[in-house]
Amino acid sequence: MYAPAGVKTSRDYPIPDTMKAWVLGDPGQLSLREKPVPVPKKAEVLLRIDAVAICATDLEIIYHGPPALIHGGMPHNKNFTPGHEYMGTVVALGPAVDEYRLGQRVTVEIHAGCGQCKRCREGMYTACHNYGLNYGDVDKGHRANGFTTDGGFCEYQVNNINTLVAIPDAMSDEEATLVVTAGTAMYGLTELGGLVAGESVVVTGPGPIGLLGVAVAKALGAQPVILTGTRDNRLKIGGELGADHVVNVTKENAVDAVRRLNGGKGVDYVLECSGAANAVNEAVRMVNRGGKICLAAFPHQETPVDIAEIVRNNIYVYGIRGEGKSATHRAEAFMSQKRFDATKIHTHTFPLDDLPTAIRYAKDRVEDAIKVVVKARGVAATHKVAAE
Ligand SMILES: [Zn+2]
Ligand SMILES: [Zn+2]
Repeated sequence: MYAPAGVKTSRDYPIPDTMKAWVLGDPGQLSLREKPVPVPKKAEVLLRIDAVAICATDLEIIYHGPPALIHGGMPHNKNFTPGHEYMGTVVALGPAVDEYRLGQRVTVEIHAGCGQCKRCREGMYTACHNYGLNYGDVDKGHRANGFTTDGGFCEYQVNNINTLVAIPDAMSDEEATLVVTAGTAMYGLTELGGLVAGESVVVTGPGPIGLLGVAVAKALGAQPVILTGTRDNRLKIGGELGADHVVNVTKENAVDAVRRLNGGKGVDYVLECSGAANAVNEAVRMVNRGGKICLAAFPHQETPVDIAEIVRNNIYVYGIRGEGKSATHRAEAFMSQKRFDATKIHTHTFPLDDLPTAIRYAKDRVEDAIKVVVKARGVAATHKVAAE
């Protein structure tokens, strides 16, 4: 029975010695294995994972490798378990942990920085300078579960207490997996961007971050919030999440539409979530002079950018990696106050054992899948559960 020295557990939450865990083999290959249940160290807890959402970045990692970095290199065939958008129940406390209690429900941020580099000291722990240096005799203490350390496509995982976000009983497991996605949008708009109420925002690309970007921007008091994309069903969800206007770019020129909808002027912010080849140049023409462009998507090719237009117009362009400066806590505050209903982007749930099916739904957008969740318990095998 699981009883590591110095670790506090409870009879109410019995923990086995081994667990089911999906392991990445060659690109695109996942297999279900037994792994030892990990042991929390100082400032860490063990979570029983209750739900985990599939992210486009998981698909990047599983099929291509980056941005995962395992033992300093590609993640394939290293007994690595991916998955990073999870939530669960605290079932064991590492030595001296008193910030959380056994049985508490939490969702997680992905990155625990090293805590000692320049960026970590600034709160930008997703841009830790010791990223991935957490193995062998170069252990700097950095963890990004599902990227540089084992993630959530399994039954239990250890997390640094700094990565935990407490959630209320009323928040479902599925909704809790979406907090980190909303937190990423929050980080891009406020902590990195400086958005304040009354400023105008365009979100390009109605994927999960884009749709929750709309919701967060609206909850922050942005005006107007305009969403652009190609699929009417997703644009409709954007409207339900708070977009004042939606633009289908297959029917109307995106730049013209944005200017028309904003009184002939450019907007203060563009949150670029499409990764489209022309996205940056279009964003440059959507913002006003001195406006800001947050890049939140991974394009698959290098693209020419109109630098002169950026220079002439004093435009700020910045990339965003993950969810720093505790932005997830503020996103969770919006969600627990029901300022927007993130579950509108949750479309399917599968059992953990059916992860390959769940990944196929997410990757091929089967039945218009947006956010697909897997759960180790409480979901009948072979049956998906569509969101209501
Ligand atoms: Zn993600
Ligand atoms: Zn660091």
